[in-house]
Amino acid sequence: GRKFFVGGNWKMNGNKSEIQSIVNSLNAAPLNDQTDIVVSPPAVYLEYTRGIISPKIRTAGQNSYKVAKGAFTGDVSPQMLIDVGADWVILGHSERRNLFGENDQLIAEKTAFALESGLGVIACIGEKLEEREAGRTEEVVFQQLAAIAAKVSSWDKVVVAYEPVWAIGTGKTATPQQAQEVHAQLRNWLKEKVSESVASSTRIIYGGSVTGGTCKELANEADIDGFLVGGASLKPEFIDIINARS
Ligand code: 13P
Repeated sequence: GRKFFVGGNWKMNGNKSEIQSIVNSLNAAPLNDQTDIVVSPPAVYLEYTRGIISPKIRTAGQNSYKVAKGAFTGDVSPQMLIDVGADWVILGHSERRNLFGENDQLIAEKTAFALESGLGVIACIGEKLEEREAGRTEEVVFQQLAAIAAKVSSWDKVVVAYEPVWAIGTGKTATPQQAQEVHAQLRNWLKEKVSESVASSTRIIYGGSVTGGTCKELANEADIDGFLVGGASLKPEFIDIINARS
């Protein structure tokens, strides 16, 4: 079986005092040890968060560049994330793609380098509303996944996050059926283009307006192996989402 995986993407939110209170509540909560739990603070707070959070919870960067160091003002490398205690990095988030102009090629290169450097990668893909309405969901997510897959040689440390752009930050959670349909298509793509064993072992998690109220039904779907949570990961209900399967 695939271990359930729940990530909290804090995006560009939080300060030391808010992080302290989120972490206090996570540290005090009953956490299902059948679930991999990861929080992703802004890069400047990674070390602070690592220093106060339970060792059961891993930390992730929200982005990293495709080389270790150099003249790349404003960016951080996988080596730096590892140096401050991170085990994971989120790459290809729709906000990086759409607000910061990152394309499939760059995301694939960053994924390869992060993996090579020893990080696990939460690789995000997902269609926009107009693409879904035009019946292009499969085409779009397959293209995004293909770009990443072309650069990945070992899938052990890859988690695929399906995050439909129309569901992110909108309160419009995909229905369990909508999410399951795409997750099954993605798993089938992995089976055909990579291998049967990668398809059956790779976690495919869902993101987009997941809440304490919507998580349990989603978690019951056969191909939904966890969540990547934005807004609700800053709130006490994140604990309910972590424990969605218990
Ligand atoms: P929301 O949960 O706020 O919709 O954000 C989802 C997301 O983008 C996680 O990476």
